[in-house]
Amino acid sequence: MRKFLNLLPIGKQGLGLQEFVKRGSVTADFLGGKAGVVNCGVSMSKPFDFEIGKLTGPGSASFRPPLGLAPAPERRTFFLETFGCQMNDHDSEKVAGVLLARGYRQVDRPEAAGLILYNTCSIREKAAQKVFSRLGEYRTKQSEGKIIGVLGCLAQQEGEDIFERAPWVSLVCGSASYRRLPQLIAELESGNHRVTGLDLDTDETFETEITRRDNPFRAYLTIIEGCDKACSYCVVPYTRGPERSRASDSILREVRQLADLGYSEVQLLGQTVNSYADPTPRRMRFAELLLAVAEVPGIRRVRFTTSHPSDFTPDIVEAMEAQPKVCEHVHLPVQSGSTKVLRAMQRTYTRSEYLEKIGMIRSATRAIAITTDIIVGFPGESEADFEETLRLLDEVRYDSLFSFKYSPRPNTPSLKLPDVIPEEEKSRRLAVLQDKQREIQSARNGQLTGETFEVLVSGKSRRENQWSGYTSSNRLANFTSQAKELLGTYVQVRVTGATPNSLVGEHVV
Ligand code: SAM
Ligand code: SF4
Repeated sequence: MRKFLNLLPIGKQGLGLQEFVKRGSVTADFLGGKAGVVNCGVSMSKPFDFEIGKLTGPGSASFRPPLGLAPAPERRTFFLETFGCQMNDHDSEKVAGVLLARGYRQVDRPEAAGLILYNTCSIREKAAQKVFSRLGEYRTKQSEGKIIGVLGCLAQQEGEDIFERAPWVSLVCGSASYRRLPQLIAELESGNHRVTGLDLDTDETFETEITRRDNPFRAYLTIIEGCDKACSYCVVPYTRGPERSRASDSILREVRQLADLGYSEVQLLGQTVNSYADPTPRRMRFAELLLAVAEVPGIRRVRFTTSHPSDFTPDIVEAMEAQPKVCEHVHLPVQSGSTKVLRAMQRTYTRSEYLEKIGMIRSATRAIAITTDIIVGFPGESEADFEETLRLLDEVRYDSLFSFKYSPRPNTPSLKLPDVIPEEEKSRRLAVLQDKQREIQSARNGQLTGETFEVLVSGKSRRENQWSGYTSSNRLANFTSQAKELLGTYVQVRVTGATPNSLVGEHVV
């Protein structure tokens, strides 16, 4: 099995392939146009499996820069910045793959790029504002011959209005239309200055020939796109379109390729990952898919996120019990502890139904970590409703949570709800919730002192002998080791202390 060395996980903007080449080697599996994966990890066995020049070269001779635009090769460089969730991160990996396959080279500064792309999020207003302010920073760049594109959820939500608000933007493409990206890029290359991809009615998931993966230790894989739930506060059904599941054989083919490239941990992604419905005659259930992925030779850890409580069925817990490679972590967003608020949110379960799911997970013999998402200050959320959420925290004792102030979003039904909670009150509730959760996490992590866990090492500190990685339960562990090289390996770590957000420990040899 190949191991990854000397390569720390990188930030959301990613590094250019050449930057990876400088640091190590690049491996790829791209045979005869078959779906492939470019993995920017460092291989111990073979320095290069693929002609890098084909990916990073100056591009095809047929390319003619449109009038008024900078000449090649700068035109064939791209900068890609990602806002938002893991699904956006992974979409960016695919976008990068599409561009690299067309001869583009990724650069890590917008100043150095001919094509500047923002893969955006619009789940909360703050995220959307951040994108527009970033776009503002680059308003002068178009006259310098650069092409600026907005991809993802904000692109889908705002559509052609983006051209009005930021006339220096040339490309607007929603995440449901990413399959059209090569065609849209070709239109830009042939001189068209305004192109859009805004269809939502595609029944395909975004499968690319090449995915340029940023994380050398954990490979993300989208298995279901879009969402058919209709939570009253959420833009996802509008920005990512209806639910579409990827064929199980295609998923398993990619997992095998990932294993061949040296990945041992994969994370299956979807807004409601456990609503997966295999479109092939095989009709593989989500729990069966987890087991099938775990059985791929070389795969040692299988993660999945995000699970929707209504579709969280007992066979998922049974699969976790039967197969230790399925990681002991479930992210199960509750959003509120009050059934009244859950109804207003159109969340399709009550507090007690949610707690039944928690009971089912807790009844497993494995110590499955549970994390969640919570929204405070939803319209109509009374003090009593909020206290129900606080009591839910006491009852479930989550291992971690993401908490948000309710943010009214365009087109969503909750916009029309009365009893809007003032911003200061939302902030107060958020602080109270977070303080409570910090205490719970301190206590939960503290109880693990003395225990030993397997950790996949993914970080090396500048401080000598300090390493970090994740347990199967997705806890961050910072630990000491005298070993010379550990990145990409699995080690046993004994917990010697804890903070609310991490474990502290030592390598047990
Ligand atoms: N599909 C996942 C689910 O239903 O659990 C969540 C997807 S969403 C990208 C991640 C989280 O953002 C949600 O669980 C919710 O807590 C939060 N969120 C979504 N819309 C929001 C809004 N309008 N205001 C505040 N938080 C929001
Ligand atoms: Fe949004 Fe609800 Fe779908 Fe999650 S399940 S993506 S919160 S609509």
